[in-house]
Amino acid sequence: MPLPWLEGLYQQLAQSFAQQRFHHAQLFNGDKGVGKQRLVDSLADGLLCASPVNLKACGNCKSCQLNQAGTHPDKRVVKVEGQTIGVDEIREISDFINHSAAQNGNKVVVLEQCHKMTTAAANALLKTLEEPSLRRYLLLTCEQTALLPATILSRCAVHEIKVNPEYTTQWLASLNIANYSWLELFARQPLLVQQWQNDNQLEAIDSLFKFATNLKDSHNFSALVDILNKDHSLVNVFALFLTEHLKTQLVLGMDFFNYQKAQSAISEFLYNSSHVLGLNLELAISQLAFTLRESQN
Ligand SMILES: [Zn+2]
Repeated sequence: MPLPWLEGLYQQLAQSFAQQRFHHAQLFNGDKGVGKQRLVDSLADGLLCASPVNLKACGNCKSCQLNQAGTHPDKRVVKVEGQTIGVDEIREISDFINHSAAQNGNKVVVLEQCHKMTTAAANALLKTLEEPSLRRYLLLTCEQTALLPATILSRCAVHEIKVNPEYTTQWLASLNIANYSWLELFARQPLLVQQWQNDNQLEAIDSLFKFATNLKDSHNFSALVDILNKDHSLVNVFALFLTEHLKTQLVLGMDFFNYQKAQSAISEFLYNSSHVLGLNLELAISQLAFTLRESQN
């Protein structure tokens, strides 16, 4: 499934490659679900392919077959396993880059979520960036460039990935995703929605939306807690739904002081849920519901 909002950027990259202006370190920044990973995968395949067209892989050559099997010796992908990317992983990249290529001469490193590098890792990467080698390419993804040292940023070609929501509705429709009322909140993160579809989570997300809309009138939170315990990353989605609902209340005439009070309770809940070890989620939600009730009556 092509991602129409990435086509323009891809063409630019292909053009710069054809004109030998392609930067050896390309950094793609954007929210979760905008397609960064798909973009760097395509680019990596294109860079390794023996006969690419506009930097898109042919799909047939030996290199492409190796890529499809996930065994290309000239490609290295570094993904975050724990909370951070450490210096050892970066040193390994430098070693990999310094050895000669097995196939067509190009070698590609994909470094995902590079904002999670430790300071030592970033310093190690800096050395690699400062001494570019011929036919060696680094493709990096990041969710927040503000978390990266300026020294790293200044040595990469940085691209902001933004989704034009005009594309999204049609694209999501082509995935046969039901028209949930909350979908538009993720119009700029369509691949996140696709991921939920693949993981059979759309119904759970819809339940979160309903819980968020009725939280102040609820007293039993066990079903909600079950959903959040199954996938902790959904706490962010739940908090987003709560915030959106609150904004609607404000438009409908909610007192601004109460609005602020409710909003800070949501922020505190969100903070605690990711920072307090062994948090009693059910208790935290019932406290939140209490504050929302207080501020809306
Ligand atoms: Zn090929």
